[in-house]
Amino acid sequence: MATKEFKAESKKLLDMMINSIYTHKEIFLRELISNASDALDKRHFVQLTDHSGQSEELFIHLSFDKDARTITLTDNGIGMTSEELENNLGTIAKSGSLDFKQENGGQEDMDIIGQFGVGFYSAFMVADKVTVNTKSLTTGESSRWESSGAEGYDISQGDRQTPGTDVILHIKESDENNNYDEFLDQYRLQSLVKKYSDYIRYPIRMEVSTSKRKADAKEDDYSDEAYETVTETQTLNSMTPIWKKSKSETTQDELNAFYKEHFYDMNDPVRVIQTKTEGSATYSALLFIPEKPPYNYYTKDFEKGLQLYASGVLIMDKCPDLLPDYFNFVRGLVDSEDLSLNISREMLQHDHQLKLIAKSLEKKIKNELQKLMTENREAYEKFFQSFGVQLKYGVYADYGMHKDVLQDLLLFYSSSQQKPVTLKEYVSRMKDDQKEIYYCAGDSIARIDALPQTELVKEKGYEILYLTDDVDEFALQMLMEYDGKKFASISADNADFSTQEEKEQAKQAQETNQPLLNAMKDALGDKVKEVKVTTRLKSHPVCLSAAGSLSLEMEKVLNQMPGQQPVKAERVLEVNANHPLFAKLSALKDTDSEKLKDYTEILYQQALLLEGLPMDDPAKYVQKVCRILEEQP
Ligand code: ADP
Repeated sequence: MATKEFKAESKKLLDMMINSIYTHKEIFLRELISNASDALDKRHFVQLTDHSGQSEELFIHLSFDKDARTITLTDNGIGMTSEELENNLGTIAKSGSLDFKQENGGQEDMDIIGQFGVGFYSAFMVADKVTVNTKSLTTGESSRWESSGAEGYDISQGDRQTPGTDVILHIKESDENNNYDEFLDQYRLQSLVKKYSDYIRYPIRMEVSTSKRKADAKEDDYSDEAYETVTETQTLNSMTPIWKKSKSETTQDELNAFYKEHFYDMNDPVRVIQTKTEGSATYSALLFIPEKPPYNYYTKDFEKGLQLYASGVLIMDKCPDLLPDYFNFVRGLVDSEDLSLNISREMLQHDHQLKLIAKSLEKKIKNELQKLMTENREAYEKFFQSFGVQLKYGVYADYGMHKDVLQDLLLFYSSSQQKPVTLKEYVSRMKDDQKEIYYCAGDSIARIDALPQTELVKEKGYEILYLTDDVDEFALQMLMEYDGKKFASISADNADFSTQEEKEQAKQAQETNQPLLNAMKDALGDKVKEVKVTTRLKSHPVCLSAAGSLSLEMEKVLNQMPGQQPVKAERVLEVNANHPLFAKLSALKDTDSEKLKDYTEILYQQALLLEGLPMDDPAKYVQKVCRILEEQP
């Protein structure tokens, strides 16, 4: 019989496979096993509707012959007639492969081969000849298809006795660039099945040889004599995916073990989300919330994503589209029957089904975190230590688009509770006269607690949220308000906690001391926008505040970022008119204007120091302080 040519489009794909430089050639096995599994599904269906009562156990068998350089995959599925062979293997099936072919321009897209199904032709990545021996269950006809690649294929009379299909790969000779011999290896094949096809629902069997101790071996004999090679048929895949089992069928230990083995973590997950969802998006998912971030979590090497399975077959190891950035720490997998194995990366991105799944997962993750917070606060706080920053970035990102999802998951340290609290908890404790949520940003809790401006606010009984992460203030600015309450920095120059009486007093002090304040402002020049009397200090003589929307803390954060133009918050030096030093300054104004300058400068530098900001000129500051110390008796 004359050799037939492949259809043009098939030939192109075939050429790509033959010349594949792709390093993950190993996926050929996954593709062939999926085909076999589909064929078994079809037979299974026939058996279900067949009333003859005959039903055969369905399985896949894998074998290899090192000397003959062949790998054989057998299934007792539906089989094919010669016409089907012609249609199915002479042309690319009208599935994802076609789109794949159209999109494919060159070698760059080779990556797609690894990520998505490319079907039967992937066999040609490792084989220079493929034989398909098949018998159709429907017609009983036996046929053989054979091809050595680009030349075309032959179809002839076959000799298979029972319905099903053998696919025989004649493995290429290794050359300096490619090692094909590795596939002619028991252990390699075993592990490939485990890796890609562990959850195929039919048994994948292989004759496996292992070295075992002879039953009659002497107790102290460890020589080769004491061992024998035993060959037995083993089922390589575990078949039922743990995520397909119901909650009652799995134990926490089992899930933890699966997580640790599958996702290479040493710690148990904090929480497991096990879900089977039906409706607009039908999928099973098994998600894990880790306790600690992986070592590369805060580096650019970290890749987010969930494993994506289509009907038990792994099609992508890290599908990023399933997780929003703010939940990027979640590990796990999704299995959906609605996804096709032959789906390209581009298609996946636009896949409606995938979007629905992602949306549904987001809700589930949020609910689970919320549940963890109420059920086990301690564990939640631990979790938040690991990943809270990511949630706060999420609030800030995309112009605050996700704040509704995230705001109730946030924790900030509270001055009055001395532990992390939620915004909801804060609001529930707000004083009757309190209109805003107060916060103060700084390097550490201890440092903020010691700031001059926090002292009086605490004493007046207001709770303050201490913000210690760089992103905090940016996130709160993006939130703008919570439960109708605005956020207010107690370090802003317009923050005011005083009574009417205190306000009056301060106003008076401001007016009578205007010349002194002007002199101090002159001494500082444009380092500050203003020097003014404040009502917010108790035991401290001065503090710094910021006018405008850029706070001192934000200035610090922004200036730490590489490649940034330096920014500067507008500083206001606030002076405590009730402090003994104030009287001294006032006296100096009339007696020694040079000294007033020095004192003002020192106070200003000290205020910077307290805020954790760099001093303008430390050497000059030290000189000035020394001079004053020398003057003391
Ligand atoms: P796809 O699986 O995406 O349809 P393939 O190129 O992998 O594309 O396979 C083409 C077709 O060949 C399949 O759709 C199926 O009809 C047929 N086929 C492949 N392998 C087998 C098999 N082991 N048993 C029966 N039919 C098969």
